[in-house]
Amino acid sequence: MKSFCVIGLGRFGSSVVRSLVKNNYEVVVIDTDAKKIDDFKDIATHVMIADATDERVLKNIEIDKFDGVVIAIGQNVQASILTTMIVVESGARNVIAKATTDVQVKVLEKIGADRIIQPEKDAGNRVADNLAHPDISDYLDLSDDYSFAKMKVRNIKFDGLTLFQANLTQTYRVNVAFINKTDGTASIGRHDTKIGIGDILYLVGTKTDIEKFSEII
Ligand code: ATP
Ligand code: ATP
Ligand code: CA
Repeated sequence: MKSFCVIGLGRFGSSVVRSLVKNNYEVVVIDTDAKKIDDFKDIATHVMIADATDERVLKNIEIDKFDGVVIAIGQNVQASILTTMIVVESGARNVIAKATTDVQVKVLEKIGADRIIQPEKDAGNRVADNLAHPDISDYLDLSDDYSFAKMKVRNIKFDGLTLFQANLTQTYRVNVAFINKTDGTASIGRHDTKIGIGDILYLVGTKTDIEKFSEII
């Protein structure tokens, strides 16, 4: 069974822990705050009142043996940086750190965290994207230029066409990776896959092309 360590039980860390526990994973939590730890003693697999910036603490629990480590200390930038450094240096896999400022993101990247999350900023960006492009229901940045997006077919002119006939790659420079059809079937995008009104397309393309296409599809 997979096991994870979550350091810091603020709102973000707490929800990571609850979600992991709900999915039946083993979760060890660490926080300096005895009250926070008390709240999780019946939820997490193992709880520890400890300062994660103390190298011995993480060494003792063999932090490098977990399948993933989340450093959910945001406000205390110094503790967040120091803890992430110790975790990365220990050789831990899948190190995810929470940041509250852009400077903190830069430092955590430099230290070698595998992934950095800025919950408020990330959620804010998603809401702004949803407002600006209500037709794109899910959006994932693949690089600075490229995205993966999910959208519904609404335009009658595409109804019943195969991907070969729709010629989306040539005309709109978007690539259909996967289709969820209204009849409940699903398939990867091939030249002979038919699309119809209401089908959900999963597309890859540049952000500009995807945005333009979302207004046509
Ligand atoms: P939120 O997710 O609520 O926005 P936050 O980013 O504001 O959280 P804090 O509330 O500052 O972050 O910290 C999250 C938790 O991390 C707190 O419960 C705090 O006690 C804990 N914490 C801070 N420093 C350490 C440390 N050195 N070792 C262990 N836990 C720590
Ligand atoms: P964050 O996204 O940073 O976690 P928060 O949920 O902690 O935000 P606050 O910082 O309390 O929320 O409030 C967000 C903003 O809303 C603040 O800039 C505050 O000035 C503004 N605000 C609070 N109450 C009102 C109000 N009644 N009318 C207009 N603006 C308000
Ligand atoms: Ca906070």
